[in-house]
Amino acid sequence: MGHNIEDYTGIVGDKAMYDLHSAARRLYSRSVVHVNSTYYGGGVAEILSALVPLMNDVGVATGWRQLRGSPDFFNVTKKFHNALQGDVLNLTDMKKKLYVQTNVEFSTYTHLQNHNCIIVHDPQPLPMIRFYRKHQPWIWRIHIDLSHPHEKLWEFLKNYVLRYDVVILSHEKYKRKDLHVEQRIFHPAIDPLSSKNIELGEKTINKFLKKFNVPDDKPILCQISRFDKWKDPEGVIEVYRRVREKVDCRLVLCGSTAVDDPESYQVFTRLQRRTNNMNKNGDIILIASENNVLVNALQRRADVIIQKSLREGFGLTVTEALWKETPVVASKVGGITLQIEDSKTGYLVDPQDTEGFADRIVTLLKDKALARDMGKKAKEKVREKFLITRLLLDYLELIHELLQ
Ligand code: UDP
Repeated sequence: MGHNIEDYTGIVGDKAMYDLHSAARRLYSRSVVHVNSTYYGGGVAEILSALVPLMNDVGVATGWRQLRGSPDFFNVTKKFHNALQGDVLNLTDMKKKLYVQTNVEFSTYTHLQNHNCIIVHDPQPLPMIRFYRKHQPWIWRIHIDLSHPHEKLWEFLKNYVLRYDVVILSHEKYKRKDLHVEQRIFHPAIDPLSSKNIELGEKTINKFLKKFNVPDDKPILCQISRFDKWKDPEGVIEVYRRVREKVDCRLVLCGSTAVDDPESYQVFTRLQRRTNNMNKNGDIILIASENNVLVNALQRRADVIIQKSLREGFGLTVTEALWKETPVVASKVGGITLQIEDSKTGYLVDPQDTEGFADRIVTLLKDKALARDMGKKAKEKVREKFLITRLLLDYLELIHELLQ
């Protein structure tokens, strides 16, 4: 946090800066507020940490509120999150009540009347809109793949969604035919100047790897993701077993545990048990820690980044690795397909194809020139499409349009 907008000129150029200032100028007297449910852990918090200060820096007064909920509430919303991605769910009245009641309480002490535009992220604070006298545009920004939701849950949530002015999704394919509200596409983006993405010297990289006990005497294969079944960490271990038959290397699984993701602890302990048995020589390293510089160091030092998600709204971890010119082998799902052009800027593989993943990884571990070439092309694609300055412009333009 804490960068000035000018700091980005060298990365994106004068024209992008001019466009940003022109769009911001029209909103100087306006104020905006974002609402989500966590300050850290996962992609949404990552984006808001960069976006909110920059919105203020270009001259649009912008707040950020976090929905407060009990562990029970987050258990329910995690179930909702899973069900929106296709899981089964027992949608009881008790779950609905806890979900709505938490939003009622939050809205009683969260005063939003003075803001000119309200942007609500993801399902947790979605019902808030029901409990305000609405006199400004409300935007619902949903970051997950909505194409195969649990029907009953979607019907229930839709009652709230219908009150919004606009819904923002990450991918054309997530648009819903059964939703009358206008739907727009914004691709997520990364902040090239954040501690997670800024250039790091070799010394810092070495220091952080040492601190987290990651030796660098062998090639490193790495997945960085919340410990979540949709990120398929067990599948990554399977892939690694096959890679190991051909190339001696280490696997690092690095994940954080987000406040609004109560399942992550269970997934982590299951992985620990599983790897204890097959990890005699310590070649599988599990790290549960929220540390941006470590993530940065791993994404830079890894020989290959794997992202074996079964579903993926967008996949910022992929963007982050592409920006660092580290080759990526990832699942051909959701938002990842917007980022990687197969065989050009990385490899896309069917998430069930363990062998395919292993083959691609082995290719990249053996062919350094190919890996370098892919990395270079990937970085330029991110510069062009997936940096925070572009996302900032998307928001400024939409807000202006809604306030006309
Ligand atoms: N992340 C992190 N530490 C971790 C695991 C993940 O900082 O141990 C970050 C990661 O770098 C990325 C975000 O959390 O910025 C994950 O976003 P993504 O879109 O990949 O997935 P989500 O968690 O939102 O499903």
